[in-house]
Amino acid sequence: MERKVALITGGSRGIGKKVAEEFAKHGYDLVINYVSDNTNLEELENDFKSLGAKALFVKTDVTNFEDCSNMVNKAIEEYGRIDVLVNNAGITKDSLLIRMKEEDFDKVININLKGTFNVTKNVVPFMIKQKEGKIINISSVVGVVGNAGQANYSASKAGIIGFTKTLAKELASRNIRVNAVAPGFIQTDMTSVLKDSVKENINNQIPLKRMGTAEEVANVVYFLADDVSSYITGQVINVDGGMVM
Ligand code: NAP
Repeated sequence: MERKVALITGGSRGIGKKVAEEFAKHGYDLVINYVSDNTNLEELENDFKSLGAKALFVKTDVTNFEDCSNMVNKAIEEYGRIDVLVNNAGITKDSLLIRMKEEDFDKVININLKGTFNVTKNVVPFMIKQKEGKIINISSVVGVVGNAGQANYSASKAGIIGFTKTLAKELASRNIRVNAVAPGFIQTDMTSVLKDSVKENINNQIPLKRMGTAEEVANVVYFLADDVSSYITGQVINVDGGMVM
């Protein structure tokens, strides 16, 4: 039986890495994009290999459309198919609007939202040819409810929700399901920069009284890619310990 293939942007660390491991455990081969030069690819490759998966690493800045096209073409050359796309690459550049620099607004929108467009636009024609596909976009609960200090980030994540719902409508007839996962506060490099006092304050506002793990997000991403969720499309699933309800 032909092995399935999952392309995960930002799959070299944090939530993306756990998502990649989850797909590896379920018999998928991987395409992983990374952007930092200091990423330890050999260690990552061994990690995925130990879970039985082959991984293709492609240095790709998701803000660059040509880079994204090259990554997708390399994936097709290597595996001949892409069954699942997880748009996970993302950054924050937080400050109140009054102090937010234009370049920090542009950077966050370009990576989080335009990057999602750039990769999806290149993958979808192959999914249409395959007559099947699943796309899972990583949004955030702040894209639903907003958050002081994150005008750029919450706008990018709200944009991802609109993008997800539109594509779910456009692609349903092509047997492609498109959903979003909206994590709350998850322990990764992105949140490790927060002061302990801030983390404690956040934990107090979460009904489950703790931050989530990358694995808890990865489980839901896999669920949305699996056939057990075959009647779900155009949805946003919060993984946030009950923070937003
Ligand atoms: P992270 O640990 O900071 O990892 C971010 C990933 O994005 C890295 O793999 C990074 O690649 C990649 N990336 C950044 N800029 C890129 C670019 N220009 N092109 C390609 N890849 C790029 O973040 P995380 O916490 O795992 O977050 C993953 C996703 O979940 C993001 O979309 C984030 O907004 C979302 N999210 C996170 C939380 C949270 O609490 N952590 C909450 C809600 C939503 P390199 O390793 O090569 O730098």
